[in-house]
Amino acid sequence: MKKNFNTHFNHEEIIEKMISTNQWGTFFGVSQQVLDRVWNNLTAADGNSVTYISMEIGADRDVYHPIKNMLQVLDIDESTNKILNHYCKLFLYGPEKIPNYSGGLGILAGDTLKSFADLQIPVAAISLLYRKGYFSQLVDSRIGQIVTVTEWSPETTPSLYLLKDPANHNLPLEIQVPFYDENDQQIFAHAQIWIKMEVSNDLNFFIPEILLDYSIPSSPACIREVGQHLYDSSSERTKVLQRRLLGAGIIPAMEALGITSKTIHLNEQHGVVVVIQLISQWLQENLGDDYQNKATDDDIIAAAEQVAKNIIFTIHTPVKAGHDRFDKQIFGKVGHSFCQRILHILASDNEYPNLYNFTNLALRVNRTTNSVSRLHKIVTQKQFPQYAEKITAVTNGVHHLTWISQAKAEVYNLFPELKNWQQNPGIFANAGILLNNKKFRTYLEQAWRSDTEHLTNYINNMLDEHRKQMHETWIDPPNFLSHLDFEDRNLDPGVFTVGFARRFSTYKRADLIFEDLYTLAEIIVSNNYPVNFVFSGKAHPSDDPGKSLIKLILDIQEDLYRKSHGLAKVIFIPGYDMKIAKMMVSGVHAWLNNPKRPLEASGTSGMKAALNAIPNISTMDGWWVEGYHDGLTGWKFGYESGIDQNSFSEDPSTLLYSEDSASFYRVFVKILEMYYKPELYPQYLDKCIMNLKLNSPIFNSHRMAAEYCERYKLKLPPRTNKKINKLQKIYNSEQE
Ligand SMILES: *Cc1c(COP(=O)(O)O)cnc(C)c1O
Repeated sequence: MKKNFNTHFNHEEIIEKMISTNQWGTFFGVSQQVLDRVWNNLTAADGNSVTYISMEIGADRDVYHPIKNMLQVLDIDESTNKILNHYCKLFLYGPEKIPNYSGGLGILAGDTLKSFADLQIPVAAISLLYRKGYFSQLVDSRIGQIVTVTEWSPETTPSLYLLKDPANHNLPLEIQVPFYDENDQQIFAHAQIWIKMEVSNDLNFFIPEILLDYSIPSSPACIREVGQHLYDSSSERTKVLQRRLLGAGIIPAMEALGITSKTIHLNEQHGVVVVIQLISQWLQENLGDDYQNKATDDDIIAAAEQVAKNIIFTIHTPVKAGHDRFDKQIFGKVGHSFCQRILHILASDNEYPNLYNFTNLALRVNRTTNSVSRLHKIVTQKQFPQYAEKITAVTNGVHHLTWISQAKAEVYNLFPELKNWQQNPGIFANAGILLNNKKFRTYLEQAWRSDTEHLTNYINNMLDEHRKQMHETWIDPPNFLSHLDFEDRNLDPGVFTVGFARRFSTYKRADLIFEDLYTLAEIIVSNNYPVNFVFSGKAHPSDDPGKSLIKLILDIQEDLYRKSHGLAKVIFIPGYDMKIAKMMVSGVHAWLNNPKRPLEASGTSGMKAALNAIPNISTMDGWWVEGYHDGLTGWKFGYESGIDQNSFSEDPSTLLYSEDSASFYRVFVKILEMYYKPELYPQYLDKCIMNLKLNSPIFNSHRMAAEYCERYKLKLPPRTNKKINKLQKIYNSEQE
């Protein structure tokens, strides 16, 4: 990949042009022209841009980073220019992780922003900066998940910039966010502002992520504390404060930077407090400074209707724990009493009169609500019938440039039929032309093999490491296999490998396929089909049922190994993150997803597998209802019938374990046959290619961003518009 560059141009000069500055500081990766263009767009008087709000954003550098790639290609290591040297070192060797995400919601936000950047859509994102990130996971076979603190420092992380105060460049820019005590006495939380740049693949555009950092000395101690950990749920008050740090920080942050967006897109309801502020602003403008005394309930409702015109809301889950409800009294201790009047009118909860329901607030105050798949739209309409009319669908997608492995990308690059797949993932529809192309099939298999080896090598080294650690630490290896000798322990990349990785949440049923170990072992032993099951994922520290699912996976390892005479190996990889995800979705032979229908609103990890031409095995939930294509792209199993009140329950008795696992075993034999019988194997490869052909053009975040553009109603330059129209034509999530 490196070198092979003509030396008639000066690498240092090219890189020097990647340094740009403005009143807030110096940035690296885009030219001055690009910086000015993006910033002018976001601050223009017409407000023709979008501010995207998300509690978490996942975009680690080790899975995708255009600036680092550029530096690697140009091969510049040392420079006489001090600033250049600093940035090159930082980007080439600096830390890779920005632990500001917990799972699918955050990764989706990151993928979405990357597509906005690639398509040059004027968006700024706002989130929080968590100095202790999300927790780090250790796993001990006797204890299960062990939570440890994540150490990272934004100061040394590439692509993160602390903004300076334009009036005094020696100081960081700070915003003030008012909080109130029970007597409406104002106290101020302070935040520094970090910018993370999500730079487009061609370095010609970027999306600024504005990350509010409240853990600074000028903030009161209680605020500093609650801003440290993503989804800190140590108390309800902490949760309330954290939501408010996000929601109430939006307008001050936009004002400090001059961002004028007329559209605010709420990625889930976490930041919805912003609408309270917008309603108050509107009332103040229309009723004067005494608005709090003057406003009638009708005035508040009228203001909400005005504010709603500027809000887009994406709802992400039918799971009740995902909907924010907060005790009125607790909220009363952080917000102004007028804010409670607004909540009383707009956020009441019929079921729980003592709670404010923030999902209701978000559903009420917006111009469009979108669910994240077609099935989820139906489910959301059933859950919230009073808003049914405005609930639409935009099915999720993933950023193809992030999730396609290097080996697969090299294969796609070789075939003219797939030319330009980087710019337009719709091109993957042409993979059908290659279905019977021998060269394509062979190259794809070879790339796959290399991805599988990458995964199995990682696992084998890990098992080895854990074995060594056993003698040095008190941690008991998370995998039973670590106790075995090398010959027995070592994973073979030729063995059929199933992958399952995501948050460990009850409805996702990580342990479903181990419901009946006898039957599972019997399938494997009677046919002599070896299988590896690779698992990874974290459970939220206060989710005890989720944690016990991890323990259960650890507990069955030895049992299944023995019952299957050593043919079935179950592996758990601790510390799930984007890097492990990428290795898994490209290296396994099938991607398993088995949520209880219809609780998985979309799911995105299976889409990452599709981009890598790996088939899915899934219950008919979320995106898979749209991606299954009568079995051309993989397999389905499990309950499929209607949706009633039991459907929304996570009560163990309603989770359908025995029904769905029995259904899985019936399908699983056939899958193994297809993989292992040489006369059937070509059909297996057909499914891989068809998953690439039928699903990759659709379930990518470029297409999703294009659908969002329709909701945003932005005025875009003709070239951008043309690109977006093209992507929109591929799929319409609303159409059945
Ligand atoms: C894609 C991804 C997820 C989401 O997985 P689902 O199957 O959609 O729940 C979670 N975590 C990481 C690290 C991911 O990359």
